[in-house]
Amino acid sequence: MGTSEFDGGGGGDADDAAPSRDDRDLGGDTARRDGAAPRDGAEPPDAMAARRNAMVQRQLVDRGLVDQRVLKAMGEVPRERFVPRNLRRRSYDDGPLPIAEGQTISQPFIVAAMTESAQVAPSDRALEIGTGSGYGAAVLSRVAADVVSVERHGLLAKSAADLLASLGYDNVTVVTDDGSLGYADGAPYDVIIVTAAGPSVPDALLEQLADGGRLVMPVEREPGDQRLVQVTRHGDELVEADLGAVRFVPLIGDQGWPDQGGQR
Ligand code: SAM
Repeated sequence: MGTSEFDGGGGGDADDAAPSRDDRDLGGDTARRDGAAPRDGAEPPDAMAARRNAMVQRQLVDRGLVDQRVLKAMGEVPRERFVPRNLRRRSYDDGPLPIAEGQTISQPFIVAAMTESAQVAPSDRALEIGTGSGYGAAVLSRVAADVVSVERHGLLAKSAADLLASLGYDNVTVVTDDGSLGYADGAPYDVIIVTAAGPSVPDALLEQLADGGRLVMPVEREPGDQRLVQVTRHGDELVEADLGAVRFVPLIGDQGWPDQGGQR
């Protein structure tokens, strides 16, 4: 996947930035005051499905994503269930949205692009670092055999685990821990996806990558210049490809960035 697809296709959108205040969808507030729609912004399931299908076409297919299994998963996983209730009308906006603990649920395009770049096969064992809302784990669970997802914030891990279980994603295990160290108990993994940017690819993750396995993660080797990288293991050889510019929240941990007080 070329750099331009991320820079020009919308994938370079800030994953950690406050979403732009596009209040077009919030116009629904009027309807709520009228009592014509539920206060929590809920919409009929058909309306959400239509928005989801439009997202797949306009934000993913039209930007060049081609993996049919990933596109199918993106068309099935209800992102509206993973965003805060008061933001549900913006579930299929083309950007990240804020969740608890100062974190974000990633832009749909970046979730799909990272999953496609990981070249996931149906029999693959996958490790995700940075569970956040659980949305990326849900998508990954539709294309992999099973998923371990690690989140450093206990509150996020608990609510994602509960939500994933309630929605029937029973091949996902959520672990609260420092994911910069991976999760050795389940290693080796065919696929590792990291949804937070570190200063380098953690050695621990490379050690837990199976022969032939693919790792996809944002890396910020130069200040302010985050690159999405794909690392493929061929025996002892690691082949790295640069997939383009991105912007994510920091990977904080032993093999990530130090936890500096207020930093989330
Ligand atoms: N995939 C998520 C989703 O769909 O909602 C988006 C995750 S958000 C962009 C990145 C997440 O990485 C945050 O929830 C953050 O707490 C988590 N994180 C940062 N450093 C981490 C670490 N060392 N181990 C585990 N999770 C970490």
